[in-house]
Amino acid sequence: MPSPELTREEAGRVLRLCAACMYCDGLCPVFPALSGKHEHSLADMSYLANVCHNCRACWHACQYAPPHPFAVNVSATLAALRQDSYADHVWPRALDRGFRHPALAAGIFVAVALAVVLIVLAPHSSWVALHGARLGPGSFYAVAPLGLMIGLAGASAGWAVLSLAISTLRFWRAISLEMEPRVRLGALWLAAAEIVTLRYLDGGGVGCNDSGPQFSQRRRIFHQIMVAGFVLLFAATLAAAFFQHVLGVMPPFARTSLPVAFGVAGGLAVLAGAGGLLAIQASSDREPSQRGETLLNLTFLGLIKLTALSGLALLVWRDTAAMGLLLALHLGLVMGFFVALPASKALHAPFRAAAILRSAAERLSRGRRQARNDATFE
Ligand code: SF4
Ligand code: SF4
Repeated sequence: MPSPELTREEAGRVLRLCAACMYCDGLCPVFPALSGKHEHSLADMSYLANVCHNCRACWHACQYAPPHPFAVNVSATLAALRQDSYADHVWPRALDRGFRHPALAAGIFVAVALAVVLIVLAPHSSWVALHGARLGPGSFYAVAPLGLMIGLAGASAGWAVLSLAISTLRFWRAISLEMEPRVRLGALWLAAAEIVTLRYLDGGGVGCNDSGPQFSQRRRIFHQIMVAGFVLLFAATLAAAFFQHVLGVMPPFARTSLPVAFGVAGGLAVLAGAGGLLAIQASSDREPSQRGETLLNLTFLGLIKLTALSGLALLVWRDTAAMGLLLALHLGLVMGFFVALPASKALHAPFRAAAILRSAAERLSRGRRQARNDATFE
């Protein structure tokens, strides 16, 4: 992985060439944002890197890409910058090393979480309970008391939310611009619509160049399947809370119940979405990408798959002697996943949202300026 200084130097060179060329103006919002700018601050570069979604269209369109001596590779250059932008703004700062060694960092977080879960559960669950000797309603709580489960999951999720929020605030402070109140409101709406619909992953209707010059919508489709899976898993948690606290039904719930139906559908959707994205990552062209970002993506998707698989395994074998250990494993993986989130590809979501918000504001401001100029000349 190149040093941050080398990455910035190369990014400055490539972005200057693009600003002079502008052939790719219509491909994505990165190029219009370069118009007329021949020098870029670090904040501008971080912003542009997070507007880019590595569709690789510019790699295939560029007449200055290798073997041309200019060797322009915008998608790989912005991927390296993007990774540096995560490391530069992550909170606490010590987590920046996680972006240099993502697999090692995730492995350590998960191992520590699993150890914590086993140590914390040990005084509360005899080895008989851990081995699932007590089955049926209430058996989960014989292994892990409800308060402990809520405490472990709540502490790890709270840590993830706090860290992601502070990191995003630091990033937004670095890249944000002064906005007129009308532009701010319009930009919020525009950015929200573009984020929810994954507007830019459709590449203007044709998709991304995951592998070779042919276009594909696969990334967008698998991304949306995975997000739908997370929504369903959240619905399963809410339904489970309703069953237990309002209806007085103790878990494990019937296989035909609403919490289980949501959980199974969500788990399968997450597995399918993450599996599809992993397959795309594994088979995509290496040249227009950056090794560090690919590793970050593979680690994040692998962790998601592992956590979803442990939840489904618990459902399948919950009525056997393996239930206790499977529950401990699932709890450990869920906790490890949350604890690892701040130093993972999860930062991509809020950072990209912030970058799209600035991009939307810039586009609206440009539109208003253009309209004023047109009115002056009429
Ligand atoms: S990527 Fe290549 S073709 Fe596109 S704007 Fe930059 S220099 Fe020009
Ligand atoms: S890779 Fe795609 S999103 Fe990124 S700069 Fe090139 S065209 Fe734009």
